[in-house]
Amino acid sequence: MFRIQKTHPRYESLIKREKLVAGIEAGITSKQGLIAHGRGEAFDYLIGERTLKSARRATEAAAALLLTAKKPVISVNGNVAALAAKEVIELSELINAPLEVNIFYRTEERLRQIKALLEKQGAAKVLGDKADARIPGIEHARAKVDHEGIYSADVVLAPLEDGDRCEALVKMGKRVITIDLNPLSRTSKDAAVSIVDDIERAMKNLISVVEEKKKGGGKENPLEDYDNKENLKEVIKEIVERLKSPSCLSF
Ligand code: ATP
Ligand code: MG
Repeated sequence: MFRIQKTHPRYESLIKREKLVAGIEAGITSKQGLIAHGRGEAFDYLIGERTLKSARRATEAAAALLLTAKKPVISVNGNVAALAAKEVIELSELINAPLEVNIFYRTEERLRQIKALLEKQGAAKVLGDKADARIPGIEHARAKVDHEGIYSADVVLAPLEDGDRCEALVKMGKRVITIDLNPLSRTSKDAAVSIVDDIERAMKNLISVVEEKKKGGGKENPLEDYDNKENLKEVIKEIVERLKSPSCLSF
């Protein structure tokens, strides 16, 4: 990995790029994944590279949904594996949910590499290689899922997901939780809960809210008054307010 000085003002962002480049070299991340990350980065700049209040509300709702799910599954793609492998493994242990490697640009080799990485880092159960079921309405290899995983799950945490697949999962009756920096993406709009935040920040927050809830803390029933579309409007309001603030407008 290229050595980035900690004092660099864009240290965190540059480290993420290095992790993705390393992901490509390890056969984990797709080249297209780099472009998708770029779109996310642009939104992160607008957000101010921090967690918005609306993202915290979505995180509360996501934690409640995961903890009340009968069969939760966490979907992992090449960008998620490169940026947040440790966090998805930790969350999967906390909520007792398997990980399922589910990649848009599917090749058996990349799938195998991601699975191996997750297992090497301690994941107990990694699905995705059986591919014995298909998401209806999706063509080609990207429809492939495991029957005992995503196909039969009631709640799917699908960070950085593609809009088509999110829509198809919702049509199957699943409740999809996504993490996506773009509040305007089809995925954000279709999901039951959209956490508009960077994958690493969002996963860390989600883990701590789940831990707190497991101890009996946190908001009583955050799902009761949670409306994802209203929350996305709040995200956009927060972004607009920030952009109008004097600190943003001083050149
Ligand atoms: P959609 O298909 O949902 O309309 P899209 O085609 O713009 O969206 P995809 O490339 O299918 O997006 O999915 C990647 C999504 O992940 C993008 O919306 C992008 O903003 C988001 N994203 C990329 N990097 C990150 C990151 N580090 N953290 C959170 N979200 C990210
Ligand atoms: Mg897409």
